[in-house]
Amino acid sequence: MRVIIIGAGLAGLTCAKVLNTNGHEVSVYEASDGVGGRVRTDEADGFLLDRGFQVFFTAYPAAKRHLDYGRLDLRAFDPGAAIHRGRRTDVLSDPLRDPASAVPGLLTDVASFADKLNTLRLSAKLGAKGLPVDSVTQMEIEAEVLAEQYLLEAGFSERILDNFFRPFYGGIFLDRTLATSARVLAFTFSMLTRGETTVPTLGMQRIPEQLASHLPEGSVHLSSRVEELLAKGERVSAVRVNGAEVEADAVVVATESPSAAKLAGKPTPEGAVGEVCVYYELSGRADGKKVGLGAGDGVFFNNASEMTAVSDAYAPTGRKLLSAVHIGQLDGLSDNEIYRRGITELSDWYPDADFRPLAVYRLPFCQFAQPPGTHRRTPGNATDEPGLYLAGEYTEDASINGAMLSGEKAAKAVMA
Ligand SMILES: Cc1cc2nc3c(=O)[nH]c(=O)nc-3n(C[C@H](O)[C@H](O)[C@H](O)COP(=O)(O)OP(=O)(O)OC[C@H]3O[C@@H](n4cnc5c(N)ncnc54)[C@H](O)[C@@H]3O)c2cc1C
Repeated sequence: MRVIIIGAGLAGLTCAKVLNTNGHEVSVYEASDGVGGRVRTDEADGFLLDRGFQVFFTAYPAAKRHLDYGRLDLRAFDPGAAIHRGRRTDVLSDPLRDPASAVPGLLTDVASFADKLNTLRLSAKLGAKGLPVDSVTQMEIEAEVLAEQYLLEAGFSERILDNFFRPFYGGIFLDRTLATSARVLAFTFSMLTRGETTVPTLGMQRIPEQLASHLPEGSVHLSSRVEELLAKGERVSAVRVNGAEVEADAVVVATESPSAAKLAGKPTPEGAVGEVCVYYELSGRADGKKVGLGAGDGVFFNNASEMTAVSDAYAPTGRKLLSAVHIGQLDGLSDNEIYRRGITELSDWYPDADFRPLAVYRLPFCQFAQPPGTHRRTPGNATDEPGLYLAGEYTEDASINGAMLSGEKAAKAVMA
């Protein structure tokens, strides 16, 4: 079969890899100038700048099936987090994976003793020895509720919600209100306890590049935006790209949800969450290999990470890179104002450090919105039109695992 795949994000590339491995001819058309979609890394004066702070959980089941972790040369963050409230810092050693190790941390006023017991209970239920999991959609939790409600019903205090869960999961869901589906919380909790939180030594884009390396030379066409799908009778049989018609036995639309809706004319999930990621060159010390979290109301940055403590290749030799994330958008603020406000806050978090502005990434569409109920309504990979298939995070869940699983399932649907 000859299959056209539209979009070289993780979903499109995984789909192409599976089809190619099974002997099908694939052509991937990508609108931008590189592979990876939302997982790209820029190089600027020897610094590696991921397009937004992203991490890779080694426990992701779909990723394990398609990636060679050794070749990615993954570098791990330390578990736990450093929690900043103004000039005060509390270090939680490993509250999710090994709750017992959190005793010194949890005996600070960040959380109560009951929170420690509740963490143990949650870990027994969702952690490494708990439910087997393959995807968010398969998480067997009681109900479609808000992550916030799930934690409160599990008995956690408002104090640990404000001091830990909001900034910690806020950084993953890009939503500090915890209005995301509890399924995502449960899946993420499970991933965190089953493996490590990492980045490839040379930046996140190494992940899609590795997927693309499995495809025959010349099968990925960059700077090639597909303008429309073309049908013969009922069947989608070609696309228009770069002014030409290209025919295929099947077409997989593997773009972001809004472009998929336009291109394929199918309903796809609406809504998005975003962030502004700010990079500084760091002089001095931040939180080393732990993620720094901003607790309390009105913080400018939700989280900050000393990327070079995890992989020193993120900066030129002997220099340091700090990535800091504001959740939401800052449309009214200039880059200079963002740098300035960021430095004011970071100077409280890291009083002995200095910060030199490097780059601002404004990313309004990072993940499709995942309120409770979303994962019961995600579209399937096969559509009601013969020859037309969908792939992309929005058919599963907003994550690297969701995108790769979706690509894998779309390939199987095409072959079926
Ligand atoms: C800042 C940020 C932080 C994140 N953090 C994490 C994290 O820590 N862990 C995690 O698991 N996930 C994280 N995610 C989510 C994860 O990156 C995404 O869920 C995943 O990469 C989506 O992949 P995709 O293939 O579905 O879509 P995309 O990566 O968006 O790929 C779609 C591709 O289609 C192309 N395209 C669109 N229209 C056309 C057209 N007409 N013709 C040709 N090509 C087209 C686009 O250019 C794009 O390359 C984060 C995302 C962002 C942005």
